[in-house]
Amino acid sequence: MKKSYDVLIAGSGIAGLYAAIQFGCDTSVLMLAKQSREICSTALAQGGVAGVLKHDDDSFDLHVKDTLVAGSYKNDIDAVEVLVHEGPEDIRKIIEMGVDFDKDENGELNMTLEGGHSRRRIVHHKDRTGKEIAEKLTKVAAQKSNIQLEENTMIINIERVVGGFRADLLRGEEYSCVYASFVILATGGIGRVYRYTTNPATATGDGIRFAYEMGAKIKNISAVQFHPTAFNSPNSREQFLISEAVRGEGAYLLNCDKQRFMDRYDERLELAPRDVVSRAIVLESRRTGSNEFFLDITHKDREFLFDRFPAISEACLARGVDISKDLIPVYPCQHYLMGGIDVDLNARTTLPRLYAAGECAHTGVHGGNRLASNSLLEGLVFGRRAALDIIKCLDAGFARVNPGPCPDDFSGAPLPTGIRTAVREIMQRAYFVIPNPSAVRQGLKRVEEFMKRLQNGRFAQTADFCEAKSLVTVACLILQDAAQNFE
Ligand SMILES: Cc1cc2nc3c(=O)[nH]c(=O)nc-3n(C[C@H](O)[C@H](O)[C@H](O)COP(=O)(O)OP(=O)(O)OC[C@H]3O[C@@H](n4cnc5c(N)ncnc54)[C@H](O)[C@@H]3O)c2cc1C
Repeated sequence: MKKSYDVLIAGSGIAGLYAAIQFGCDTSVLMLAKQSREICSTALAQGGVAGVLKHDDDSFDLHVKDTLVAGSYKNDIDAVEVLVHEGPEDIRKIIEMGVDFDKDENGELNMTLEGGHSRRRIVHHKDRTGKEIAEKLTKVAAQKSNIQLEENTMIINIERVVGGFRADLLRGEEYSCVYASFVILATGGIGRVYRYTTNPATATGDGIRFAYEMGAKIKNISAVQFHPTAFNSPNSREQFLISEAVRGEGAYLLNCDKQRFMDRYDERLELAPRDVVSRAIVLESRRTGSNEFFLDITHKDREFLFDRFPAISEACLARGVDISKDLIPVYPCQHYLMGGIDVDLNARTTLPRLYAAGECAHTGVHGGNRLASNSLLEGLVFGRRAALDIIKCLDAGFARVNPGPCPDDFSGAPLPTGIRTAVREIMQRAYFVIPNPSAVRQGLKRVEEFMKRLQNGRFAQTADFCEAKSLVTVACLILQDAAQNFE
């Protein structure tokens, strides 16, 4: 690793990767992944990428409208317009780069439907869309000599310095630092702040903590999305997602009496937006007194199901459920963050030279609830916009950072035990699907105490400590924002 780079990209999911490959060979880019590059939300994405690629029965206006309806019109309309109008070109570009989306028998892109979409406009690679995109974009990045991708390298802290930033890094047990003139935070989601989430282990909100600690604005962070249909496995933290595309292909949602119930809550039935379906499940569980819910797709042909949903069929089989014969047990869990580091249309945060893209950023496109398959699209569009804006700054002759010294003492007391578990329990109890205002207020007090303890003590800067600090910061920000919204 060199001592300084033009651009440091924190994260190698879709937003980081697509941003990185925009830079020309004269711009040095360091892209970091805190674990192996396969461990990220992008690699888990099943359903697909939404985009208006054909205009025969679809239009930009319809995609905009669906996005606004799902987001309860709390979206930033300019950001939605950018997403919807520019997204299709980015989808075409990644196809040119080798991303293979499913085609029908005529060789045309096979579009699927998901909750909240009024048209079939989601391109997908079976039910392994994110993995396909991440693999192909990583290949493209690997061919560019100006991009250095380092896995298993965790940023533990970022500080502003003259002309850029210094990032402190931890790789195994070894500490180092690197200087960069520009930083793009693309660190993904915050799911690990909950007891149950579809998010991978990397989703601890580190980028949001860095931005917050440096003084950047964080916005709408209490806008957390809960996916209605994760495979219900109470003994595991990471819940396996049963993609909305399964309901898009006709699955019914059943209660503990094996009866459909969505007509009691919304006329769009199983294909209502995620927040509506999650809420309906929680209300129905209160009505029946049971947490047992199921997806039923047994009326579809086995061959179709195993071909269209290979990853989901296999994962269910591994859990003893044959989706062509058995009901799939499901329950809502944390899935996505709509809010985050506030950015403008060029992915600029409120601090100079600091950008954010992907799930950690708040572009305003999702409003109160993200429309299915708009998130990979957001990573592409705003990842690219971040890079293009930085290229403009570099072309305009912005000064490059001068590398300086690295801190040399990361020692201190061990992280007190139990903080991470306590935070997860608080969030699960206080701020799940239907928030509990008194639990939010009580939880906030405890989380603020954890925050003071971690900020004021002198602790060893281990990976565990740094992630705990991120989780506590994110939980605190979410509960503060939620408490304010109750007032
Ligand atoms: C199970 C599942 C299914 C989904 N399905 C879909 C779908 O079908 N369609 C859709 O549009 N969206 C879907 N989503 C949402 C979408 O996948 C994510 O929002 C999107 O992939 C986020 O991309 P990202 O680049 O922002 O972050 P990620 O892909 O999560 O990447 C984050 C990167 O940041 C790195 N990182 C984090 N902290 C640090 C640190 N301190 N130091 C160094 N590196 C760090 C990680 O190692 C990782 O490389 C799904 C999400 C999940 C979890």
